[in-house]
Amino acid sequence: MQDPARTSLQYLKSVGPKRAKAFAEVGLNVVEDLFFYFPTKYLDRSKILSVGKLLEFVRNGFEGQATIIGSVQDKKIIRYGKKQIMKVVMESGGETFECIWFQGIKYFKDVFNIGESYAVSGKPSLTRYGHLQIVHPDFDRLEQKETDDFLNTGKIIPFYKLPQKFKSANIGTISLRRIIKNALELYLTGLRETLPEFLISQERLLNIREAVKNVHFPSSEEKLRSAWRRFKFEELFYFELLVAIRKYRVKNELKGISFEIKSEPIKKFLDSLPFDLTSAQLRALHEIRKDMESAKPMNRLLQGDVGSGKTIVSVVAMLIAATNDYQSVLMAPTEILADQHYRNIGRMLQPLGIRTVSLVGGQKKREREETLQAIESGEAQIIIGTHALFEEPVKFKKLGLVVIDEQHRFGVEQRAKLIKKGTSPDVLIASATPIPRTLTMTVYGDLDVSIIDEMPRNRKPVKTFLRGESKLPAVYDFIKKKIEEGEQAFVVFPLVEESDKMELKAAEEYFKKFKNNYFKNYKVGLIHGKMNWKEKEEVMLKFAEREFDILVATTVIEVGIDIPNANIILINDAFRFGLSQLHQLRGRVGRGNKQGYCILVAKDEYLRKIADKEIHMDYLSPKERERYKTFIRLSALEKTTNGFELSEIDLKLRGPGNIFGTEQSGFPMLKYADIIEDSELLKAARLQAFNLIARDPHLEKSENGLVKKILTSKYSRHLEYSKIA
Ligand code: ADP
Ligand code: MG
Repeated sequence: MQDPARTSLQYLKSVGPKRAKAFAEVGLNVVEDLFFYFPTKYLDRSKILSVGKLLEFVRNGFEGQATIIGSVQDKKIIRYGKKQIMKVVMESGGETFECIWFQGIKYFKDVFNIGESYAVSGKPSLTRYGHLQIVHPDFDRLEQKETDDFLNTGKIIPFYKLPQKFKSANIGTISLRRIIKNALELYLTGLRETLPEFLISQERLLNIREAVKNVHFPSSEEKLRSAWRRFKFEELFYFELLVAIRKYRVKNELKGISFEIKSEPIKKFLDSLPFDLTSAQLRALHEIRKDMESAKPMNRLLQGDVGSGKTIVSVVAMLIAATNDYQSVLMAPTEILADQHYRNIGRMLQPLGIRTVSLVGGQKKREREETLQAIESGEAQIIIGTHALFEEPVKFKKLGLVVIDEQHRFGVEQRAKLIKKGTSPDVLIASATPIPRTLTMTVYGDLDVSIIDEMPRNRKPVKTFLRGESKLPAVYDFIKKKIEEGEQAFVVFPLVEESDKMELKAAEEYFKKFKNNYFKNYKVGLIHGKMNWKEKEEVMLKFAEREFDILVATTVIEVGIDIPNANIILINDAFRFGLSQLHQLRGRVGRGNKQGYCILVAKDEYLRKIADKEIHMDYLSPKERERYKTFIRLSALEKTTNGFELSEIDLKLRGPGNIFGTEQSGFPMLKYADIIEDSELLKAARLQAFNLIARDPHLEKSENGLVKKILTSKYSRHLEYSKIA
């Protein structure tokens, strides 16, 4: 009877069919659902200023956001010629302030009632008469009693997201608060625990009832923190449990191949290179060899910054497979990159008698059939292609190793699909996405990791400059000078993805302008995403052969392209790119031992606007914050060439939310926890999860019945590759 998981919301006091329907439309059906409809913010007394205090701040030049509480004294619509504004005068502690609206006047007029209290937030300013004013503030209605409690006892007030559906069913902040309060009083005792007892006590967590109660109506700041901590921990724990299960399965339940390491051909290959491997490359190689020797399948992430030399390392792995009569596949994210790998690797391995083939879209039918035939017969030992390679029925003779280059473009599903094709081939994933370690541990937590944290010797860090568009003539002169010295340059510009046609037009126009004006005495090439891969290949080859001095390009060159003689990259409208994308683009230059240059260009006014002043992010409006972040991003690029440092900055700016698309990576999205901010909690959750799977890999012990139940009911769709489901 008292089971909140089975009691429909409509039986709650003051809910009824109409409101129940509105709840159902956002996925809230039973009382328990409502328990987990958590507040999105709280009114915290320490952040509230009195009108007088705020007035003083604003007079002294304060430009940030603030929250004040007041009750409505007067509201009126004022006409100025054709224009109208709506003004609400509020009172607090004997002092008044004004809220102003230029839009939505009719709506706001009905929202505010005289005598009622509101918490309003926004950017305060002074009127002509020196009054405190907030234009288009955010606001939340409060009950008089709440306001009094809040101001007198420091009670914390929760606020909930109110979808339109709620509003139309007349569910507002105050009524929702009441409904939830009521639901908790009647049904909280029926809520069942979802974490095992030992975790609650070992990790000093609130039990589920305490936590739910305090997440809605915290009895203190401390309780509020504890409540969230419990839900974060729980979420991270089950998340890590999935990771642990996956890892266990690869390590213990799939049978892999024991390769024999033949040192003769490896030595011969390494001797043929014009350089020595760095010690970081050697270390990674050693770890890979160990994996390949073992009968357990390799599942390794090879992580190293752009240009750190991951390709050579994976080539050695493919060489090991080939000398054991196994085939290898190298999967690249783009056709140009596949093509580049095919050429380089084919050339490197030919002297050792190893046959490399390429399988990309757009090949001639006959060529393609021959290749497929060579793969089936086993004649082709190394197969290089894009992921399209695995969407078609390719038959391998004996697939032993899969190398995935630039993993961030591939999802877990593709990996799984691949694994199904062979008898658990070894998998090596090369990634330049510089992910902070905490994230690696989580997002790729089922992989072993080798890190190449060292650049080849005599590699000079790329010099990076941020310049306004007015400086372009000087930049062009610089490029010309470098070309005269025998170097080549990329000129990148972003595309507004409005339509294919426009994209093409933009690229071509830019190219023409370049060719006919600034660089008419030079050889200029063009590459863009709308070319088919043969055309792209041709352009890239010409560029590599120095037939162009300058390559005008869209971001098709972003990943992996290796043209050691191109040492300058000019990036137009740099504001439009993300940090990691810019880092990738910059990684196209400075790959040889010459000095590389990266010039980021943006509109002058933009640079001026975001002059380098001390700003506290919390006090910026969302729009200003975005703009400011972009600036931090660009100046970070000027300061460092270290991809890991950049990724930390990026993560702080963006929040981990969807950076790496955790959902796509096969793990559930995190709702409560923040991988960076909660990294300590994450570690604890991970340790507990891995220990649990080590003790009871298939969750068969009765003490783990609860964990198993939660996992199979709440996370079933993430369990498809495990034996537990
Ligand atoms: P990434 O790690 O970005 O995939 P690549 O494997 O393409 O980098 O290597 C970048 C460039 O550095 C290539 O031209 C490669 O031949 C060269 N290279 C790789 N290892 C070394 C090394 N140990 N010393 C000097 N150059 C190297
Ligand atoms: Mg690479």
